[in-house]
Amino acid sequence: MGAMMNQYAATQTIPNAPLLADLRSDTVTRPDEGMRRAMAAAEVGDDVYGEDPQVNRLESVLAERLGKESGLFVPSGTQSNLIALLCHCQRGEEILVGRGYHVQYYEAAGASVLGGIALTAIDPQPNASLAPEDITAAVRPDDVHFAVTRLLSLENTHDGHAIPLGVMQLSVDAARAAGLAVHLDGARFFNAITELACDPQDLAGMVDTVSVCLSKGLGAPVGSVLLGPRDLITRARRWRKMLGGGMRQAGVLAAAGLYALDHNVDRLSQDHQAAAALADALAPYGSVSQGTNMVFFEPVQPVHDAMRAHFEGQGIRIAGGYGPIRMVLHKDVPPLAIATLADQVGQFFD
Ligand SMILES: *Cc1c(COP(=O)(O)O)cnc(C)c1O
Repeated sequence: MGAMMNQYAATQTIPNAPLLADLRSDTVTRPDEGMRRAMAAAEVGDDVYGEDPQVNRLESVLAERLGKESGLFVPSGTQSNLIALLCHCQRGEEILVGRGYHVQYYEAAGASVLGGIALTAIDPQPNASLAPEDITAAVRPDDVHFAVTRLLSLENTHDGHAIPLGVMQLSVDAARAAGLAVHLDGARFFNAITELACDPQDLAGMVDTVSVCLSKGLGAPVGSVLLGPRDLITRARRWRKMLGGGMRQAGVLAAAGLYALDHNVDRLSQDHQAAAALADALAPYGSVSQGTNMVFFEPVQPVHDAMRAHFEGQGIRIAGGYGPIRMVLHKDVPPLAIATLADQVGQFFD
């Protein structure tokens, strides 16, 4: 412990090194040269009028890839999920969702605030899935005292865990048996199918609606797409306008999304490999869990802030605080940073 604190003191004297990598999230990824060229060259129109060719193309390309009838380009994953929930549920109805899933924990209870919809949390299993018996038990009987359970909201990946199709199918089956619709928060949909080595339609086909983020590991600056049945997406378009998400010449953004789908999907497996390597390097020094592009590391001693300062001195930004430290691998983490990381873990702890 003393040695660690001395090392911490030593890092304080290192002047601000240029930032080599930022591991706090894959949302920090920036558009690269090719993506910027695609954005600059995008032919645009007014998307609220349905006249932006890039937006129309992005919506139909993704719908086709995922085997859904229609798509809707929206500014954020939060808005995409919110619109889906508002389309599935009326006031006084209820959504079952994993505790700690983004919809339940990180979206400011938007469905409750704006839709009068109850969010009921189910504790996830260690593999991040929702147990079918927990879903069945949470569905409320038809009784005037109760909200009407309407929707199951799943998440894949969750905390980096890719939930296997067979496991997810059991959750979906429990929901269907109770007459619920199913939404998938697929913010990292392409990380999930990369890890599961399945076709996009195998995962998307299990659910009614799916939300996919373009601005995480795929590297676009902005945007998500909600996919689902044509009639639902038509209603979603009105919600998007009402929520202030109708954008005009959004083709510059959709062009980035199209570029990301063409260039940044196949490389996601590299992020997963880098995350596994980082998890190996950290394993001797605390408890580690890793799935897809995420590593969660809880040091044996609470040295979070010292560790953050040490890595910052080496040009690598991680979160401090307490509890498990999340480290996210992505396309803007250069190989040099991955080598430095493995090396500096030893330097810091030994
Ligand atoms: C990031 C994220 C979202 C939504 O993201 P925005 O920041 O609103 O674009 C939704 N679900 C999950 C699981 C996420 O990680």
